[in-house]
Amino acid sequence: MCSMCFMTPCHPRCPNAPEPVVVRTCSRCADGIMEGEAYLDSDEGPICEECLSDMTVKEYLEYVGEKLATA
Ligand SMILES: [Zn+2]
Ligand SMILES: [Zn+2]
Repeated sequence: MCSMCFMTPCHPRCPNAPEPVVVRTCSRCADGIMEGEAYLDSDEGPICEECLSDMTVKEYLEYVGEKLATA
C-alpha cells in the first residue's frame, strides 16, 4: 500500500501515482484519452467522455452520421 495516499493502486492525485498512459486521442478535441477512461469508439475516431457530454443529441447524431427524420 502507498504510504502517501494509503490506497492500492494510488489515488490519481497522489504524487506517487504513475503517469496516466494515453491510449487514444480524441478526434474532436485532440486531447489524450487515458488508460481506463471511457470513450466512444465511433467510425470517425475516438471521442472522449468530456466531448460527449458537451454534445447535444443532435450534434452527436450528426457526428455519427445519423440524421433526425422530419415527420
Ligand atoms: Zn499513493
Ligand atoms: Zn474530446
